[in-house]
Amino acid sequence: MSVEHAQVQRTDFDQVMVPNYAPAGFIPVRGAGSRVWDQSGRELVDFTGGIAVNVLGHAHPALVSALTEQANKLWHVSNVFTNEPALRMAKKLVDATFADRAFFCNSGAEANEAAFKLARRVAFDLYGTEKYEIIAAINSFHGRTLFTVNVGGQSKYSDGFGPKITGITHVPYNDLEALKAAISDKTCAVVLEPVQGESGVIPAELAYLQGARQLCDEHNALLVFDEVQTGMGRTGELFAYMHYDVTPDILTSAKSLGGGFPIAAMLTTEALAKHLTVGTHGTTYGGNPLACAVAEAVIDIVNTPETLAGVKAKRELFKTRLEAIGEQYGVFTQVRGLGLLLGCVLSDAWKGKAKDFFNAAEKEGVMVLQAGPDVIRFAPSLVVTEADIDEGLDRFERAIATLTQA
Ligand code: PLP
Repeated sequence: MSVEHAQVQRTDFDQVMVPNYAPAGFIPVRGAGSRVWDQSGRELVDFTGGIAVNVLGHAHPALVSALTEQANKLWHVSNVFTNEPALRMAKKLVDATFADRAFFCNSGAEANEAAFKLARRVAFDLYGTEKYEIIAAINSFHGRTLFTVNVGGQSKYSDGFGPKITGITHVPYNDLEALKAAISDKTCAVVLEPVQGESGVIPAELAYLQGARQLCDEHNALLVFDEVQTGMGRTGELFAYMHYDVTPDILTSAKSLGGGFPIAAMLTTEALAKHLTVGTHGTTYGGNPLACAVAEAVIDIVNTPETLAGVKAKRELFKTRLEAIGEQYGVFTQVRGLGLLLGCVLSDAWKGKAKDFFNAAEKEGVMVLQAGPDVIRFAPSLVVTEADIDEGLDRFERAIATLTQA
């Protein structure tokens, strides 16, 4: 039975929504694979993946089927009860990673909130009240709750919301000496993104992550990897820590974990997990059967040699072509990142103008992302076809040709 809906337009946004977003001028209404259609029937190639979320594109048949099958069975029971999809998903994550335990929640910020609370609780239980300091990186992004904007290294997100959460220090990313100078026996956790996503797609150097691991061990501090953006195959490994062969104590995952259905997870060892005893933390929706059923279908497809090898191959297609475009039009100085998280760094002449690229690309029918004002970010579906890559990059090149002629 189809339901009649009232007509709505983009202009309604400004009338009925809180103005904390400034969405594009069109409204997507349907998606299939890496293509999206708007209200007028215009088709666009989607290289944004819903900001690194739609890991298997739009309306992937396996995800639609997992969702509809579960929707007809059981949606929600709360954590007063456990459920089968949650237990199966947790087993899959534990089998595939360093972790022994999973905590499910609904967003990246919540997974980080859980991670930071766990780190402080472990330190409190084992070492007392003085060990609570968290070290994070300048320009890092960990979410928008009060704790996560304070741990995040961008004061524009934490200023103006009352007193800041204390006990948090920020150090320059990829600077081991700075981390060494900041860490002490009062540090309970060092929090890092293996690739800084929002602030420009900046991969960590291997020696930095190795050094961070060692410093944490020397000071009984926990190493937390925020893999909200880098996780679930995005970098060509299931998680980015596998690239570096540096194992964290706590890992957070969200975005791609549910392929578009909201779910997040905090993963950790049994020895640490036991500090979150009954009642110390919780969420109503976390680990609900619908989300976990979809996430299970995602991991079954993503964590396969075919998908992960595909990421590496597709990265080369993107990188080669984007470098050629950058050179031909003089717009990029570098194409960086890992796997299918790519950042094109704008040349001096175009610095600060990432939004112009976003707008020009949209006009040509391709969706791309910014990562700050100086970087164009690509975070497509991991199963984007070669034909879609070619078509999308043809459109992107046309957009740049027009932009640079203007
Ligand atoms: N951590 C990282 C590295 C992210 O990139 C993001 C979102 O962009 C978050 C945390 C926050 O995730 P969410 O928006 O799901 O709360």
